[in-house]
Formats: sequence, structure tokens, C-alpha cells
Amino acid sequence: CVKRPAADQLPRYVRVNTLKTTVEDVVDYMKRDGLFYLGQASRLDDLTLKTKEFMRDIHLPELLVFAPKTDFHDHFLYKAGHIILQDKASCLPAYLLNPAPGSHVIDACAAPGNKSSHLAAIMKNKGRLFAFDLDAKRLATMSTLLLRTGISCQQLANQDFLKVDPDSPQYKDVEYILLDPSCSGSGMVCLQEDTSSVDQEKIQARLASLASFQLKCLNHGLSFPQLKRLVYSTCSVHSQENEEVVTACLQQNPGFRLVPVLPQWPERGLEPLTQCLRASITKTRTHGFFVALLEKQSDTGNKEQ
Ligand code: SAM
Repeated sequence: CVKRPAADQLPRYVRVNTLKTTVEDVVDYMKRDGLFYLGQASRLDDLTLKTKEFMRDIHLPELLVFAPKTDFHDHFLYKAGHIILQDKASCLPAYLLNPAPGSHVIDACAAPGNKSSHLAAIMKNKGRLFAFDLDAKRLATMSTLLLRTGISCQQLANQDFLKVDPDSPQYKDVEYILLDPSCSGSGMVCLQEDTSSVDQEKIQARLASLASFQLKCLNHGLSFPQLKRLVYSTCSVHSQENEEVVTACLQQNPGFRLVPVLPQWPERGLEPLTQCLRASITKTRTHGFFVALLEKQSDTGNKEQ
């Protein structure tokens, strides 16, 4: 995408791949490499870092934060799969879903696979991670990425998630689903552009079509018989793809409810869906993002996460 000035102000987020290393070891390595460690961040303003400075993130324990434009693509730790270059907001879905090691999990629209690799790390590589994607090329990229990150619990399939049979014996133990479907991408800082000259009717038609697909995927996900929790995310800022999709889904699936997540997170879903999270460059120093965690009613109380 064409880089815009705002993209240059985003901190560089680095997720430590706990299947291969620890946060402490990565911090030591970076320090030996000449970078300055400022410790644990305690407020958002701490994340305004100068060149060569870095910190541990406020919200996510496996995330390190560096100055904008710090480039790790040629770094040994990146090439060895010890660190993953992933925006903070995009780390939220797997973190909130938090599947237990040994469980069966679906990543419904998985490529290129950063969230799958995060799920596998949380699962400690134990259990089964079924990852689907419709796009063979993106799935091939994902396969390479997962190889580097040392994941072994995954089963990749070039398949339409909407055609995956929830009643197949293969998926009878699936308790967790991460659903990050195709969206407008309107939250990606580098894709934000002046749309005043673009045909508004076309934009609305595209959003309606995406929202209809997203709702179908959500309903399909909730139909897996043993499902306990599903996390829904988009990198869109449009309520049509976010709160409106989730509201329609909850109306159609009264057996599920929203879990209020991360009370300390500064940006919430639009009223009344304040249980959900939103993210943006101004309020959370990330790309624009939306996350909702749905849970089967009968399983646990309405506890916060
Ligand atoms: N979760 C991914 C990650 O973190 O790397 C990014 C997913 S991207 C937002 C959406 C993906 O959904 C695309 O790779 C697209 O090919 C895939 N997709 C679109 N329709 C699909 C369908 N019906 N079934 C499975 N995958 C689909």
C-alpha cells in the first residue's frame, strides 16, 4: 500500500514467539544489539519512543514496542522465527480467545497466518488448530511463515469456511473459533485515503456485501456443536462491518452473549456494544481494528476478561 505520514507514526510492535524463546531472552538480545530498554510501559504516552529505544507493552505481555519505522525484516530473530512483526491490535483476537493447551480450535479465515501462529503459541503447540483459507497463494505464504515459527499443531486447508461441515466428526471437539474475515481494510493506516471523490453508492454497496458475508461466517461459526467461545475481528472502522454485524448475529443466536473484555482498554465498541474493543492510531496507537468475544450462555457467568 502507499505509505501515508500517519503510518510512519505507528510504533513498531514485535510479538515474541513463545514457542521458540522468551520475552526476557529477546530483551537481552536486543540490549546486546545496542538498543536501549526502558522497561515496562505504564501508559499510552510511554509508547512515544525515540530511535533505538524499546519497552514492554502495557496490555499484552508478549509484545515489545519499538520506535516507528524500526526495521526488523533482516534481523536474525525475525528470520529465525523468534519474533513476529504484528500490529498490537491484530494480537488482540488470539489473546482474548485464549484457547487452552490441548483444545481444538478453528482459525476460519487464516492466511497469511499471524493470528494462527499466535493461537498455536497460546496453545503451547498442544491440541489441534484447523486453519482455513480460500486463497491458495495466501495459504502458501502462511505455510512458509508457520514453518519458520515452529508450529506443529496446525492442519491447513484451502477451503471455504462456509462449506466446512460443523457436524463432521473431525470438528466435534472444536470449542474455540477465531474469525477474522475479509473486510474493507478501512482501519489500515496505510490504506486510509480521501474517499470524498469516490462514488458513495459503490462504497455502501461494497460494505453491505462484506457485512452479509461476515454475518454468514459468524452464524456458521456459532453452529459448531461444542463451541464455547468465538472471537470476531476486522481491520475496519465501519460500524456496518463491526457492531452492526455482531448485533444482527446476537439477535439470530440468542444462546450466545458478548463478553466484556479488557476493561482497561481505552477505546470501546460503539454504544451499546461497549463490551467490544475498537482500536485506532489516535486512541490506542495501532491500526484501526474491532474485536468482539462471543460466548455460549450456559458455560460460565458474565465475567470480564
Ligand atoms: N487472520 C489472518 C491473519 O491474521 O494473518 C488475516 C485474514 S484476512 C483479514 C481474511 C482472509 O479470509 C483472506 O486471506 C481471504 O483469502 C480469506 N477468506 C475470504 N473468504 C473466505 C472463506 N469463505 N473461507 C475461508 N477464507 C476466506
